[in-house]
Amino acid sequence: MNLETRGTGRQLLSIVVPVYNEQPNIEKFYEEATKAAATLDMDYEIIFVDDGSKDATPLILSRLTQQDEHVRAFILARNFGHQLAITCGMDHALGDAVITMDGDLQHPPSMIPELVQKWREGNDVVQTIREATDDAGFLKRMTSKWYYRILNAVSPVHITPGGSDFRLIDKRVLETFKQFREHDRFIRGLIGDIGYTQTFIHFVAPKRYAGKSKFSVRKMLHFALDGIMAYSKIPLRVSFYIGMLSGLLSLLLILHVIYCNIMGKAVPGWTTTMIVDCLFSGFQLIFIGVIGEYIGRIFEEVKHRPLYWLRAELGQHKDR
Ligand code: UDP
Ligand code: MG
Repeated sequence: MNLETRGTGRQLLSIVVPVYNEQPNIEKFYEEATKAAATLDMDYEIIFVDDGSKDATPLILSRLTQQDEHVRAFILARNFGHQLAITCGMDHALGDAVITMDGDLQHPPSMIPELVQKWREGNDVVQTIREATDDAGFLKRMTSKWYYRILNAVSPVHITPGGSDFRLIDKRVLETFKQFREHDRFIRGLIGDIGYTQTFIHFVAPKRYAGKSKFSVRKMLHFALDGIMAYSKIPLRVSFYIGMLSGLLSLLLILHVIYCNIMGKAVPGWTTTMIVDCLFSGFQLIFIGVIGEYIGRIFEEVKHRPLYWLRAELGQHKDR
C-alpha cells in the first residue's frame, strides 16, 4: 500500500479491544465504537480479545459475534495480561489500519475518526497521549510522572510520558510489530522505537464507564519493571560500578588494617568487621537480584513458548 491510496477505495479498519471482566462495559463500548466507525468511509471489524474473564464477558462476546458480522472475538484460555491480549488481537487484525483501545471507554471511541484522519494525512503511527485521568488519584499521577522520568533517564529509547496503548498503526507498522515476539513486552516502547512516521494526539481520559481498574499494585509494579528491563542494561552497569567502588573501599580498609598492625595499635575490632560485612553482603545481595532479573527474563525467552493460546475463536473472517 502506498500513501496515495489511503484516502480512496474501500479500506478496512480493525479495532482491537482487550477485555478482562468487562461485563458491564462491553455493550456500551460496542455501541459507541460502532457509531463512530459507521461515520467513516471504511469497512471495519471490531476484534475483542477476552483475557480469561471469569464473568459473562465471553457470553456477551459470543452473542455480539452472532448478531453482527463486524465483530470477531478471541477467547484466551486464561488471563495472559493486557499486553499479550492486545498482541493476540493485533496478530489477527486484517485491517489497513489498526486501532488498539481499552474496553472501559477510558479511550473514547468518539476519537476514532480523528485517528483515522491523521492516518489518512500520511502518518503511520497515531499515538494518543493521556493528559490526566479524571479518576486517577494524586498517587497514580505522581508515580506515573516519576516513572516516565526514570524510564527515560535509563532507556536509550524515548518513551513519551502519558503514552497509552490507545493508538492507530498502519498495516506495515503492524507487519513489523508482528515480528517482535518477546514475552515481557512493553508495547509503548516497541512502537515508539519502531520508526515510520509518528504523530501524537492529546486527550483527557474520562472515568471508567463501569467496574474497577484491572491493574493491581502488583501488576503495575511488574509492568513498570518490564518497561525498564526491556530497554535498559543500566541496572547491570550500575551493579558493575558499585562493585568497583566497594572493591576500592575494601582495598583502603585492608591498607588501614595493615597500617594498624604495623603500628602495633589495637586490632580494629568487632565494629569494623560488622560494618564491612553488612555493607558488602548487602551490595552483593542487591546486585545478585539485579542479575537474577535479567536471567529470569532470559529463562522465559529461551523456552520459546507461545505468547498466548486460545480457547475459542468467534465470528467471521473478513474475506480479503
Ligand atoms: N485488561 C486485560 N487484561 C488484564 C487487565 C486488563 O485485558 O489482565 C484490559 C481491561 O479489560 C481494559 C484494559 O485492559 O479493557 C485496560 O485495563 P484497566 O482499565 O483496568 O486499566 P487502567 O485504565 O486502570 O490503567
Ligand atoms: Mg481503564
